[in-house]
Amino acid sequence: MSEIAKNIAILKQTIPANARLIAVSKTKPVSDILEAYNAGQRLFGENRVQELLSKKDHLPVDIQWHLIGHLQSNKVKFILPFISMIQSVDTNKLLKTINAEAAKISRVVDCLLQIHIAEEETKFGFNMEEIVQMIESSDFSDMKNVRICGVMGIATFTSDQNQVNKEFTYLSDCFSTIKNKYFSADPDFKEISMGMSGDYRIALKAGSTIVRIGSLIFGERNKR
Ligand SMILES: *Cc1c(COP(=O)(O)O)cnc(C)c1O
Repeated sequence: MSEIAKNIAILKQTIPANARLIAVSKTKPVSDILEAYNAGQRLFGENRVQELLSKKDHLPVDIQWHLIGHLQSNKVKFILPFISMIQSVDTNKLLKTINAEAAKISRVVDCLLQIHIAEEETKFGFNMEEIVQMIESSDFSDMKNVRICGVMGIATFTSDQNQVNKEFTYLSDCFSTIKNKYFSADPDFKEISMGMSGDYRIALKAGSTIVRIGSLIFGERNKR
């Protein structure tokens, strides 16, 4: 068994059946992704459009790709024909662009709303006020080509587990608030994407349904 296959097998044992594992393959070569694929992994995450485009044509078509990094509006059209989920929707403008581009190719695209939960200023994402404003706007109800499947967040990079737990609990609360208020009758709104290699156990305890794991599967990231 390859190292990558072993790592996936170990992770699978600790992830409950109600949560899914995204293998984050950024900076890793096609050969590594194939190893994970051959171990049965089908969900992969990349954070840069160019890198994703350069890899995906060399890989099996039944891979489900999730975009997990900041997405510029002008790049949306390049990934829409094949992307399985855009986890990093962080502005109303981006969601509108995704909807418009998806309409052109008659697709409905699964999206998560990225919420800013970390202390760091630099991480992208909505705050709750912005989400409420967006969902209650008339534009939002007209968007027929996006399917809002839940929320995503990235915790502060810190060894303080209490801090991380607080942030994941907050994201979980945000999910419940949005679900109860706007999506209670919508079974598609069900995902809380949180947890990475360093904090996925905390995230799972706080209710994560999607963990995004890179280095624990593929090893330390390569330099770009
Ligand atoms: C890189 C990345 C991950 C995976 O990080 P690891 O610490 O290597 O598991 C998860 N989520 C996002 C948004 C990332 O950019």
